This record gives sequence, structure tokens and C-alpha cells, in this order.
Amino acid sequence: MALIVQKYGGTSVGSAERIQAVADRIIRWKQKGHDIVVVVSAMSGETNRLLKLIAAVNPKGSAREHDVILSTGEQVTIGLLSLALEGKGCAAKSYTGPQVKVLTDNSFSKARILDIEDKALRADLADGKVIIVAGFQGVDGDGNITTLGRGGSDTTAVALAVALKADECQIYTDVDGVYSTDPRVVPSARHIPRLSLEEMLEMASQGSKVLQIRAVEFAHKYHMPIRVLSSFDENDDCKSTLVTREEDIMEKVVVRGVAFNRDEAQLTVTGVPDEPGIAYKILGPISDANIEVDMIVQNVGSDNTTDFTFTVHRNEYEQAKEILCALAQEMGARTCAGDNKIAKVSIVGVGMRSHAGVARDMFATLAKEGINIRMISTSEIKVSVVIDEKYLELAVRSLHEAFGLDADIT
Ligand code: ASP
Ligand code: MG
Repeated sequence: MALIVQKYGGTSVGSAERIQAVADRIIRWKQKGHDIVVVVSAMSGETNRLLKLIAAVNPKGSAREHDVILSTGEQVTIGLLSLALEGKGCAAKSYTGPQVKVLTDNSFSKARILDIEDKALRADLADGKVIIVAGFQGVDGDGNITTLGRGGSDTTAVALAVALKADECQIYTDVDGVYSTDPRVVPSARHIPRLSLEEMLEMASQGSKVLQIRAVEFAHKYHMPIRVLSSFDENDDCKSTLVTREEDIMEKVVVRGVAFNRDEAQLTVTGVPDEPGIAYKILGPISDANIEVDMIVQNVGSDNTTDFTFTVHRNEYEQAKEILCALAQEMGARTCAGDNKIAKVSIVGVGMRSHAGVARDMFATLAKEGINIRMISTSEIKVSVVIDEKYLELAVRSLHEAFGLDADIT
């Protein structure tokens, strides 16, 4: 018998029929003798619908109220799923995030989970109930409803799995796992049965849309295995991707996948004083505005000045540019400019640790296609480049082929 946390995404609970199908699946797992805790998203399209309503009423209104509204989508699904289970004779109980007490900080719309109270949940499990928890939401120390950011139900699921010391966190979605790249860009992309949490972290942070990055970070930190499966496959032993500790993976390929991200924007200030504290002076206010910075490049200084380039999410481009250009003026910088038509492409694989020349092969491939590289960053297990957005698909396809990832090659 195991304790399993299952998360069902928006398309998996997108209609009354889908909710019934999810209830049937939960009952099958329960009948195998497992304890089941379920996390659900809002029905597909619902969060976007709520966002549109907010935009129509008062888009610049307080973040607290945004979260009051956005958290309602998940509350509907937990109730519906509990009713579906009840209708099929299976005892179930729904919990909103605040009812569980998923305690978060107070950064509305991207709150972080600080703690989860598990006492009541454990008592219900001991009673034989299936527990249904609303994903994506929590409550701050002052009792305000908070939400965790788009895709945040994944994080709720992993955090709950960690808090309850579950054996596995299953993420049911509309795809049957992680692929070597997005199959919409490369139709011959290969299904990956197992990869390490570190690789998944890179794949997710680099833009592979299957799991929210925070969820993977959480899982990585607490060694929680995540299994990605399709809720549209009726077979309970269906194809899946197990994301687990590196030690548990036998096959160490050099390049596991090609990840990419279109939602990037680049900002550059030139001619800033080359002196101690300059990076802090530039990036401090960006971070204070809660804007996440991804890649950072500072040039070698000359004439006591230097240039500074970094990337942010495209949604935060305008705000970041405003902050940066005001700072630039204050510091007497030469120029302040940006570009939001860029994209990032990365090759990822733990096998890179012991292989030289992977970056060279990547650059050679891009050069052959005449794609200009604007920025490069590397870690032990990935190489990322920023390129013009218009070359993104070409870059992904040629790298996927160059590293032998096409299903029909191996
Ligand atoms: N409903 C939220 C969203 O669409 C959270 C989630 O589905 O994970 O982003
Ligand atoms: Mg999702």
C-alpha cells in the first residue's frame, strides 16, 4: 500500500464527463489499496476567463482581490470531483487551500508555500477518505487568499506529497510525459521514460511546458519522485515519464533534450561605471519589483565603464525596461535598450558533465544554419543560447537532429 498524491490539470477535469472519468480512475487506484490525495486545477479555460473578467472590471486593481477571484476556479473543481466520487460510492472530502492551511507568503499572484498543515488530512486518510485539494492557492499569515502563479497546482501537488511523505506524486495531464523536445515543433521527438529531477528542472525552466518549474524545484529539494501521465489514457499502466533522482537512472545520455522558451526579453545598459556594487545597483531594483532575471552577462570593462545585459520574462519586459532606463539615466549610462523578440534554446543532459565538446557541437550546428547567437550561458548539465525569435524553430529542429534525438535515428 502506498500514499499517492495525484494532480489532475485543467483539461483532465475540463467537463462533467472528464470529471467522472477522473473519479473512476481515482476509485481504481483506491481499490488497489492505496491512500489517495488528489489536487485539481480549475476546469480548462476557467482561469483565463476569470483573468478576462478582472481585466474588464479593473485591470490595475489590488493584487489581493485578483487572488480572491482567481482562486475560485479550483474551488468549483474540488466540489465537483468530490460529488462525483460520492455519487460512485467513494467517500471523499474537498479542501480549499486555506482550509488545508497551505500557508504562503503574501506575494499575491505568485505566492510561495511556507508550510502545510497535515493533521486533518491524515485523520481523513485514516478514515478511508479520498482527499481532494484545490491547487494553486493558499493563505498568508494574515488570512488573505493567495495564488501561486500560473500552473501552480503542480506545486501544490508536490508540496502536499512532500508534507505527507507520499511515495510518489503523479501529475495527470493531456500528454503522456516529457519528450526530447516539443513534438509540435519536432514531430519525431522521443518520449523519455525516465529523467533526473535536475534534467527536468532544466527542461522546465528552459520552457518545457509540462510541469511548473517551482514544482520541480520542490521535488528536487525533497527528493520527491514525480510521474507525468496522460489522464486521457484509460490504461492505468500507461506510458509515463518518471522524474526521479539521478542515482536511480541507468541510462546517462549526453544530451537528453532540447528545451526552448519564447517568452523572453532582453535588456541592455551600456557605459555604466565599472565599479564594485554595480550589478547590485542594477539588479537590486529589478528584483525588488519582484521581476525574475534569468541570464545575466556583464562585459569586461574598458575606460572604466562596462555593459550589462540580462533577460526577463516577456510579460515583465516593459516594467523592467522602465526601471532599468530610469536607473541608467541616474547612473549616467550611455544607452538603455531592449528587445522582446528573442528566444532561448538549450540542450540539457546530465551526461554533459563527463563530455567535453557538447557546446562546440551546438555552436557548430547553429553556425551551419546561419543563426546568430546573442548570449550564451552554461551549467554542468546544459548549454543555453539566446537567439532571434524568428530562428527558434529552425534552431530546435537542427539541434534535435544534430544530437541524435530524433526517434527514427536511434
Ligand atoms: N488554474 C491555474 C492556471 O491555470 C493553476 C493550474 O492550473 O495549475 O494557471
Ligand atoms: Mg498545468
